[in-house]
Amino acid sequence: MSKVKTRFPPSPTGHLHLGGARTALFNWLFARHHGGVFLLRFEDTDRERSRQEYVDSIREALEWLGLEWDEGPYFQMERLDVYREFADKLYREGKAYYCECPPELLEEKRKRALAEGRKPKYDGTCRDKDLGPGPGRVLRFKTPPVGTTVVEDLIRGPVAFDHQELDDFVIMRPDGIPTYQFAVVVDDLTMGITHVIRGDDHLSNTPKQILLFKALGAEPPKYAHVPMILGPDGSRLSKRHGALSILAYRDEGFLPQALRNYLVRLGWSYGDQEIFSLEEMIEKFDLSRVSKSPARFDPDKLLALNAHYIRQEPTEKLALEVLPFLKALGIEIREPQDPRFLKAVESVKPRARTLKEMAEMMRFYFVDEIEFDPKAADKFLKEDIAPVLERLIRELEALPEFKEETLETLFRSLAEEYQLKLKHIAQPVRVALTGRTVSPGLFEVMDILGKETVIKRLKRALDHIRGG
Ligand code: GLU
Repeated sequence: MSKVKTRFPPSPTGHLHLGGARTALFNWLFARHHGGVFLLRFEDTDRERSRQEYVDSIREALEWLGLEWDEGPYFQMERLDVYREFADKLYREGKAYYCECPPELLEEKRKRALAEGRKPKYDGTCRDKDLGPGPGRVLRFKTPPVGTTVVEDLIRGPVAFDHQELDDFVIMRPDGIPTYQFAVVVDDLTMGITHVIRGDDHLSNTPKQILLFKALGAEPPKYAHVPMILGPDGSRLSKRHGALSILAYRDEGFLPQALRNYLVRLGWSYGDQEIFSLEEMIEKFDLSRVSKSPARFDPDKLLALNAHYIRQEPTEKLALEVLPFLKALGIEIREPQDPRFLKAVESVKPRARTLKEMAEMMRFYFVDEIEFDPKAADKFLKEDIAPVLERLIRELEALPEFKEETLETLFRSLAEEYQLKLKHIAQPVRVALTGRTVSPGLFEVMDILGKETVIKRLKRALDHIRGG
């Protein structure tokens, strides 16, 4: 087999979403697994809907996911001469013909067919008219009227299409812009693509593309159609299901390795293994393990994977990654490698499921004035605890060293003295220091905040109890 070459050919008419990203990942992995080449191509022939901003955002999303391309990006609009050349060849060889049917008439026939319950097909009016090129004329492919074309799909096995199902589809528009079917074939042919891995919504295009390859005297690539992704309710995945664009996941605080791991398991499996490093994915990925049935999007699983990768991330790296999320909360960290900041990161690392959540969990460390969660304050910042807090402040002021173990000893002795359970002191102090009833370990929090801030916040809690 010649060197494997795959491609990812998005239309820049929207941002990169989960489905497209999975297609890109599968193509990238397949190429990497076989030591081949992965190329990027923008199918920008839809002039109305294609936008530079989507080209940029798709590139950014692929780069963020770590799916670097070896060739391209190509742009179909820069290749119009190539399509023209191949179209002329088909025309010269009598494998394509010009058609002058007015679009309105075609539309009328199409509607009639639908109304009569027939599949709309071009009726071949111009097939034997022997027309040459001319204004307003499209070029149609002469589909062989009889026979079948079998797609030997690498995932589904053989799928046969009767030529009766097809028609003489348009390959060139009057403005010299090729249709999707034609551009894709000329590109896959001239770029030497060996494997086309794409969503199964394209399966019905494949017989047409195979016929075009053959008409051009070339061997088609191998095709693999990946079943689609469904939402949790079983309908086709869409925004309704809370599925976001890839960059929106980045902005919500997902790590690229988590998303990649999530995507690879959408339709591909390797025993019951869930966690795959990049090296493992490359080593193990193959098309024979791609499922024949649709995958289901499960946002909770994605969150759980992200939490896993956050726990795996070196703290120094996480400290940098959380910065933009803290910034969005108005918190500027000047020295992200400062030991105290690293400790703060470490304290929330086991609990955060996204970087955004992480920043929110850390917020209390950095604010001047804690906002008390009203419910927490009502429950725990009450008059009866005031004497204990006052005493605690005095003890803390006198404490020679402000360390987790010393603090714990102090709390235990106070609890004993006041005949309270440790938690009866710890919870009010937690609310005083963090504003909430849930936080990282209390002594860890105190250690990170430092003596001065702890005492300041305890005093403020006392003021609050006394109606301040
Ligand atoms: N531009 C097409 C799409 O975004 C590519 C389809 C293909 O892989 O041939 O769906």
